[in-house]
Amino acid sequence: MKVITAVKRVVDYNVKVRVKSDRSGVDIDNVKMSMNPFDEIAVEAATRLKEANVAAEIVAVSCGTTQSQETLRTALAIGADRAVLVDTDAELQPLAVAKLLKAVVEKEQPQLVILGKQAIDHDAGQTGQMLAALLEWPQATFASDIQIEGDWATVTREVDGGLEVISLKLPAIITTDLRLNEPRYVTLPNIMKAKKKPLDVVTADALGIDPSPRLKTLRVEEPVGRKSGMMVPDVATLIDKLQNEAKVI
Ligand code: AMP
Repeated sequence: MKVITAVKRVVDYNVKVRVKSDRSGVDIDNVKMSMNPFDEIAVEAATRLKEANVAAEIVAVSCGTTQSQETLRTALAIGADRAVLVDTDAELQPLAVAKLLKAVVEKEQPQLVILGKQAIDHDAGQTGQMLAALLEWPQATFASDIQIEGDWATVTREVDGGLEVISLKLPAIITTDLRLNEPRYVTLPNIMKAKKKPLDVVTADALGIDPSPRLKTLRVEEPVGRKSGMMVPDVATLIDKLQNEAKVI
């Protein structure tokens, strides 16, 4: 079984992002970039399927600029066998990524595509669902467990009331939730090995897709800062302030 994992290069989750002064977006100059955490979980899930002899080949795919090759090398170091960069300078929105991934899927013919449930930069949470719709494949979103048997996947999903277990026929789309697994540390020998693994580059043009944005960002704003708190000398003062100043009791 061939598995594709979609990996996105995003601002590292430890970085405190700053909004640009013209409010057109977030400043990513000289900022540490990493693989989207949910995509690391996707690559780890695929790698575990390969280690269990369920998957035969893992292809990591990223859409973006040349720098996304770094992210693909990380996926190769975790366990992907080869990588494909869909090279484009366009500002990519979920529908464009879904169309680009669809073109790669049609070429590669995988039985399973694993994506993150959301990219932590724009928090869209749309690409997997759109890809499933474009391909007309079944989808299981927010997976916290994946079991594959023959042509069927059994996926456990975390929902409000508990756990939902669904069964879907392959080929299918799965998106990962945080509790699916804990991705392994990338070791130096594996980083060295990853440098020798194949990484193909294809342009959006060559795939026949126009990735131009459909939505326009009007402005990006910092969240409103929290007011500082105050210390009160005793419970009586606290109750007085809650009653007469905050008027919440
Ligand atoms: P989103 O819909 O943007 O929140 O992203 C959901 C998932 O789609 C991510 O976790 C990735 O697996 C995948 N994805 C989004 N953008 C890209 C991209 N530019 N390249 C590869 N995969 C992507």
